[in-house]
Amino acid sequence: MKCGFSSLALFMNSFEMMLDQATQDGFQCMEILCEGPYWPRSVLEECGSLEVFQSYDLDIFLHAPTVDLNPASINSGIREETRRQMEETIDLAVKIEAKAITTHPGMIRRLEERVRLMAIDFAVENLTECSEYADSRGICFSIENMPNKYTYLCNSALEHAFMVDECGCKATVDMGHANTTDVPSEFLNINKTIYYHLSDNNGLKDQHLPLGDGSLDLNLIKNLKVGIIELNSYESVLKSKKVLYKLNGLGN
Ligand SMILES: [Zn+2]
Repeated sequence: MKCGFSSLALFMNSFEMMLDQATQDGFQCMEILCEGPYWPRSVLEECGSLEVFQSYDLDIFLHAPTVDLNPASINSGIREETRRQMEETIDLAVKIEAKAITTHPGMIRRLEERVRLMAIDFAVENLTECSEYADSRGICFSIENMPNKYTYLCNSALEHAFMVDECGCKATVDMGHANTTDVPSEFLNINKTIYYHLSDNNGLKDQHLPLGDGSLDLNLIKNLKVGIIELNSYESVLKSKKVLYKLNGLGN
């Protein structure tokens, strides 16, 4: 398996420091969370700092900015801005030769079925355009499943598979989010998955605990092709890597 981690664990450090750390600790990939200092629009404007990626033999994934954005928003201005930032993330992916990008499917603020149905339509329309733009630039575009709450789209395997199919893109399966549903194993059947986000929790809340510290059935994450450990601290990332390697019969 290829194992990596989300840059969330090393937030605020330079690309070079994170890439060095990943290489030093034997990771094969890394996902950059495109928020704050790694916001695509400003990274693209600075440009100079991007050559560093060519010096490392790591598969890079980008997590599109999602804070305060929403491809399913009822407000068309927010949908437009979300698409614009998604396209900027795709442009950044092209520049650094990233393997793929992932994003969230959106959410509703008013918990009513008719609002939710409308939001799904908006999200499909919006994310289909993003997916087409990614295709035109040779980048793999994927949508992530969300925790089991009514407010989030793609909160079940069924809805996740539906959205991915409708948008003509790939899936990123977050096993921590999947573990907040009654049947996390169903997410393993989504056939367009390109990689997995890995973290543990108590089965109720998306707690981002190290693997093995929650209720996630670790057998579910055996033999995955690509797994990105998504935790707040780098110490917890290394702890989870050990668990994952042991599970897959790999050395440190
Ligand atoms: Zn995410």
